[in-house]
Order: sequence, then C-alpha cells, then structure tokens
Amino acid sequence: MTARILVVDDIPANVKLLEARLLAEYFDVLTAENGYQALDICDKTQVDLILLDIMMPGMDGFEVCERLKANHRTAHIPVVMVTALDQPSDRVRGLKAGADDFLTKPVNDLQLISRVKSLVRLKTLSDELRIRAETAHNIGMEDLGRVGDGRMEEAGQVLLVDGRGSSQERLIKTLKPIADVVAMSDPQAALFDAAENAYDLVIVNANFDDYDPLRLCSQLRSLERTRFIPVLIITDQGDEQMTVRALDLGVNDYIARPVDPNELVARTLTQIRRKRFNDRLRTSVKQTIELAVTDGLTGLNNRRYLDSHLKMLFNRAKARNRPLSICITDIDRFKSVNDTYGHDSGDDVLKEFSSRIRSTVRGADLACRYGGEEFVVVMPDTSADVAASVAERLRSIIESKPFAIQSGAGALSLTASMGIATISDGIETPEQLLKQADRALYEAKNGGRNRVVAAAA
Ligand code: GH3
Ligand code: MG
Ligand code: MG
Repeated sequence: MTARILVVDDIPANVKLLEARLLAEYFDVLTAENGYQALDICDKTQVDLILLDIMMPGMDGFEVCERLKANHRTAHIPVVMVTALDQPSDRVRGLKAGADDFLTKPVNDLQLISRVKSLVRLKTLSDELRIRAETAHNIGMEDLGRVGDGRMEEAGQVLLVDGRGSSQERLIKTLKPIADVVAMSDPQAALFDAAENAYDLVIVNANFDDYDPLRLCSQLRSLERTRFIPVLIITDQGDEQMTVRALDLGVNDYIARPVDPNELVARTLTQIRRKRFNDRLRTSVKQTIELAVTDGLTGLNNRRYLDSHLKMLFNRAKARNRPLSICITDIDRFKSVNDTYGHDSGDDVLKEFSSRIRSTVRGADLACRYGGEEFVVVMPDTSADVAASVAERLRSIIESKPFAIQSGAGALSLTASMGIATISDGIETPEQLLKQADRALYEAKNGGRNRVVAAAA
C-alpha cells in the first residue's frame, strides 16, 4: 500500500521521528512545520492522510482540521491528531473538528502503523467511488460536497451487538438523541439482522463471555449485503491487540471502555454521515451508468451498450461453439409518419414499436435501439432457423395491429423490414455479423419491405 502521508508538527524532532517510522513502512512522506504550510500542501498536492499535531503556535490543530474539512478539495483526507492531550473533551473537540482518530504522544509504533493503514484503506475505497461518481456526472466536487455535508435529516439506524443487558440500556440512552438503536445479544442472529435490514452502523461491544467479537466483524465484512455497513467496536481500555486486529479486518472505528458518551455520539455521527454520503455516491454512479446505456425515449438499451455487450456475447458464443443470431429491424417509410403527423406522433410509434419488440423476444435476448427507427435484437444460443421465426413473429406483430398516436386520437398501420445473420465460419467479429445483418436488411427493403431476409451463410 503506497500512500502519501503529511506529518505536521512545529517541533522538528517529532516530525523526524514519525517520518522515519512511516518511511520504514514505505509510505511516501511530506512534512510541514505549521498549519498554514499544511493547508497549502493539501491544497496543492494529493495527500492521503494527515498526522496532525494539536498544539502549534499560530493556528492549532483543531483549526487546521476544521479548515481542511470545510474545503471540498481536502474534506475527504483522513486526519489523525497526534497529541499530548488525552482528555475525553479534547477528543470530542477533535472529532467535532472532523478528526478520524487520535494518537497519544509518545506514539506507539504498532498503533501508528495500524491506524494509518486502516484509514488509508478506507480512503482508497471511498476515493474510487468518488472518482467514478465525478467522472460519470462530470460535476464539480462542490456538488458532491453538498450531497455529503451530512446534515442528518433523519435519525441513524444503528444495530448494537452487546452481550450485556445493562450496557445495552446505557448505550441506547446515550445514542437516543441521534439514532434509533436495535440491541441484540446473540451475534449470529445479529449478523442475519444486519443482512436483512438497512442499518447505517453496527456497534459491536466486545464484552462477550464466550464469543470472539472479531468473528462477527469479519463476517460483516465478508457478506455481500453487509460489506458497506460501517462497524464500530468497543474494546477494553488497553486491549491494543484487539483494536489492531479489528482495524486489520476492516472495522471502521473503535472506542475504548469506559465509553465517554460524548465521544461515542461524535464517532457514531461521523460514521453515519459517511455511510449516507457513500450510499448517495453509489446510487448516483448506478443511475448514471443506467442512463448512459439506456435510450431515453424507448427505455431499451442504446447503441453504446449494444457495442460493448455484443462483443461479450459474441466471444462467448465463439468460445463455446454455440450459435448466436442477430436481427436488425427498421420501420418502413417511417419518415412519412413524421412528415404527416408530426415528430411527437413519430415518437409515439417508436415507443410502441419498442414495447412490441420487448414482448416478442425472450428474456435472454438483448433488444437495443440502434439508431433513429432501427433496432437490433441479439439472440444468444439461437440458430438461423429459430432467429428467422422470431423475426417473422415480430414482423407479423408489427403489421397486424395499428399503432396508436396522439393519445389514441389516431391509429396508423405500419410495417417493418428485418435482416438476420448468424455466426458462421466466415464471421470473426461482431462488426462482421452486424454488417451481414445490415446487408440482409437492405435486401429486405429492396425486395419490397415488410419482410424478413436472412444473410446467406
Ligand atoms: P425506409 O422504409 O427505407 O426505412 O424509409 P424510412 O422513411 O423509414 O427511412 P429514413 O431513414 O429515410 O427515415 C427515417 C426517419 O426516422 C428520419 C428521421 O427523422 C426519423 N427519426 C429518427 N429518429 C427519430 C426519433 O427519435 N423520433 C422521431 N419522431 N423520428 C425519428
Ligand atoms: Mg425506416
Ligand atoms: Mg432508417
């Protein structure tokens, strides 16, 4: 894992120390001796994580952190505060400023490296998501920042897995102002519950008499349905080994007993906000991908999708020595529909035409709008004979029933021509297959329209 870490401290010896340890783990290290320099570096270069001293002359670490989080270009960089202060109130202040974690001076090696690795790994995941959403939408980070600035409209949904009734009660009370908490004491039942319900966070209290809570953490990380739910673990004060292993397993955050209520609330809020932000990114990526491969008018897949998907289907058919056929269909004299009844009526026809195609082909077939009034149906595992009968069925369904236009005020009788082609020895690429079908279609048009022509094998 290569990542670039910025170390910020006003005392050069502290900087040197952290720098040496990080370099030994092959991290790329940048340094700054005050907050202004740190902000400047973050603004100008790509930084993956910041180790930030709190007590510095001029601008202290809290303020540096607040400024980083307020700037959309740096808001996503994880911040670990390195501090001699270790009062819960300092932590809460740090968390409110947007810090992700704390290390107490003198910094313990194992703690340093496990925190850094865990945060860098989590950042890599959300970076990937952010980049995809950005590219897809081609929108600026300001917009995404706004999506994620995390005013919570509704209470978070939290699953608390805790072996003891008394601590369940206490934690539920602590989180009441910000979250609806479901508490369970059976880890296995909790895993199922987490997979079935939409939680924003799972809190695992490591206080079971005869169960290893890390098992649950690991299962939550490996199940497809719970992979993206953040997990926060409550460990015993000083049980550093468990914390390190939890972070290794992909647990997002931890807090040590005795639990400071304000700190728990702050950490819970951070996790819930981040989860919701990532959910929104994921949804927007998905919608964008769907939009990019769907034809807006007809809802069929578009040509872009056909081009990429046909290649895949074609190669698979070749590799398995299975037949594959395609049918190109084009509405006959469609231009006159537009010319006579207007473009909107033309659109009505295209929509109805698409829905007739959809209801004629099998689920495994791929129907696309190829261009204006041209459509392509790809039929995997389909021989030339069968393809011809499918095309004939479609031709007859088009011809037999008039197309309603202008909200049913009028109806038009239409026909369509079809060209079909099937993979055979001479055909080595999807382009050749399409060209063959296109030639067959041309023949169908020339031969008088309203007919099916199969390309000669
Ligand atoms: P042929 O039987 O030879 O196929 O004749 P045609 O009139 O159907 O073919 P031509 O390619 O000359 O015309 C196709 C027309 O389709 C021209 C274009 O304006 C129209 N068209 C293409 N896309 C759309 C669309 O999205 N909506 C509407 N209403 N018309 C479209
Ligand atoms: Mg046409
Ligand atoms: Mg045409």
